[in-house]
Amino acid sequence: MASTLAAHPADRSVTPTTCPDEFNFATDVVDQWAERYPGLPAMYWTTGNGVPARELSYAYFSQRSQQAAHLLKSLGAQQGERVMILLSRVPAWWELATAVIRMGLVLCPCTTLAVGKDIAYRAEASDATLFIGDEQSIRTLLSVRGQCPRIRTVIQAAGTAVKAAGVTQYQEAMSSFDVEGPFHGPRTASKDPALIYFTSGTTGMPKMVLHNQVSCPLSSAMTGKYWLDLRPGKVYWNLSEQGWGKAAWAWFGAWNMGAALFVEDLSGPFSAASLLGTLHQYSISTLCAPPTVYRQLITTAMRELCKAKPPKSLEHCVGAGEPLNSEVINQWQDMTGCEIKDGYGQTESTLLCGNLVGHVVRPGSMGKPIPGLPFEIIDQDGESCPTGEEGDIAIATTTKAGDMVACIFDGYISATGDVKRAVRHEARPGRSVHPRQWFLTGDRAYRDEDGYIWFVGRADDVINASGYRIGPFEIESVLKRHPAVQESAVVASPDAARGDVVKAFIVRNKEFLSADVSQLAAELQRFCREMAAPYKYPRKIEFVCENFLPKTISGKIRRVELRQLEVQRARQMSKL
Ligand code: ATP
Ligand code: MG
Repeated sequence: MASTLAAHPADRSVTPTTCPDEFNFATDVVDQWAERYPGLPAMYWTTGNGVPARELSYAYFSQRSQQAAHLLKSLGAQQGERVMILLSRVPAWWELATAVIRMGLVLCPCTTLAVGKDIAYRAEASDATLFIGDEQSIRTLLSVRGQCPRIRTVIQAAGTAVKAAGVTQYQEAMSSFDVEGPFHGPRTASKDPALIYFTSGTTGMPKMVLHNQVSCPLSSAMTGKYWLDLRPGKVYWNLSEQGWGKAAWAWFGAWNMGAALFVEDLSGPFSAASLLGTLHQYSISTLCAPPTVYRQLITTAMRELCKAKPPKSLEHCVGAGEPLNSEVINQWQDMTGCEIKDGYGQTESTLLCGNLVGHVVRPGSMGKPIPGLPFEIIDQDGESCPTGEEGDIAIATTTKAGDMVACIFDGYISATGDVKRAVRHEARPGRSVHPRQWFLTGDRAYRDEDGYIWFVGRADDVINASGYRIGPFEIESVLKRHPAVQESAVVASPDAARGDVVKAFIVRNKEFLSADVSQLAAELQRFCREMAAPYKYPRKIEFVCENFLPKTISGKIRRVELRQLEVQRARQMSKL
């Protein structure tokens, strides 16, 4: 049995199978940094718009989270209870979240964009008994309170106090609370539940993902080390909202490595110009943005702005969550000198593969698997696909040596509370390979002769046209290279003669809005035939406005809706 992983900070030996008997992120990481380097910055926090950033140390989060744990205990919180947190990016988010983990409660971060029905769904599904929110989310919760009968404790940690019975004001309670000093929480076992995240809901209703004390809180050290290149002194800005799994990669990835998070709690909508302003003003070394944001940053206007106000300290950029087109990488590098390192993973895992430190980036490829991770591209029988052949991205639940893989989730929590993973068995009689179980990611890819992984698409998004399998990402990437194309989504569209054909929904760049549409469509088809295999070109093209492409609240394109739209349209046509 592995022993307790004591005194972890920046222990660079974390591997995909590292699983001590006991682990607690609050005591083994936050408190350890605080003890050794009390002044080490853990966060630079600002409300943006030129407001200087407040520096908060590991010692600050260690002490505040211990006091918050005393407070939660006084409110009756017990190990194993589930806690929803819907709070904007205020330091209290990290204070309370660290307190929750310290106590062995299960943290369930949700997006602040959730409306009443989303909150009711998440409260019911997660079985939460505590709710931590800000003014807005608490007002929304109160409006659906009847649908969340199990929520017993409500804590408001930001905004103007909501005057309602049973709402505890966090800041007030912390300042008037007389219990101080160390909080002695339970020594959590690695297999104890720690986190529940909801997936983005790109393919359907968001799924509930259960992580234990290690699978994300400790395994993210690999994300911080291999992909983000973090260590004390680095300042990491991750744009994703607190409710998404990627925010956990940032929090755990940065703090495992002793780096500081840069947090901007900006009110108002996102704008590419304000992002460039922030990079210009603050000493941010490392940036993670989704591909949709990078696409908005490479327009002519943003180029000009970036030239006038270049980033102050930016040296390392990463992207994840959606395919990253090589064109975007090239243009961003031209603007800032930083190469975007694409990385791939899921809410169900930490980073699985990426353009890691020390690797030469192959634009358009998702890089290589995390060292030691049994990451494979497999066929229907669970056998590894040969080089160049497309298959399912899968993670074996054990290594070939038989060690349990610790860096993936425990399973999806179903309505009845069961926890399950979708697995495929590799156990065909007569096969030479060690029989193993594979967790299927639901994504398709192939590996090139040098071991780089190339994303093809989500299994459901891959198009089968006249017997050819076509991944939407390749066609979208080719289209992005044409100056007329701002963004596109490529899906299967039913065709009476051919079964399915490739259809591209295209958002044009401003300069091309007045172009003749049939001429432009023909030009784009010619362009695709030249740049990709001729059978892959989009036989159908529809120009659409910017808001037409359906997206999740986190900004991912929901191709499933476009596919359904095409099926509906085909049905209507056949009735005429
Ligand atoms: P749902 O599971 O609810 O449909 P989702 O899969 O979008 O939503 P997430 O866990 O947020 O939820 O996203 C993980 C998925 O995002 C991956 O399975 C993959 O499809 C996609 N993805 C992540 N990183 C990349 C990347 N670098 N390139 C291509 N696709 C990526
Ligand atoms: Mg998914």
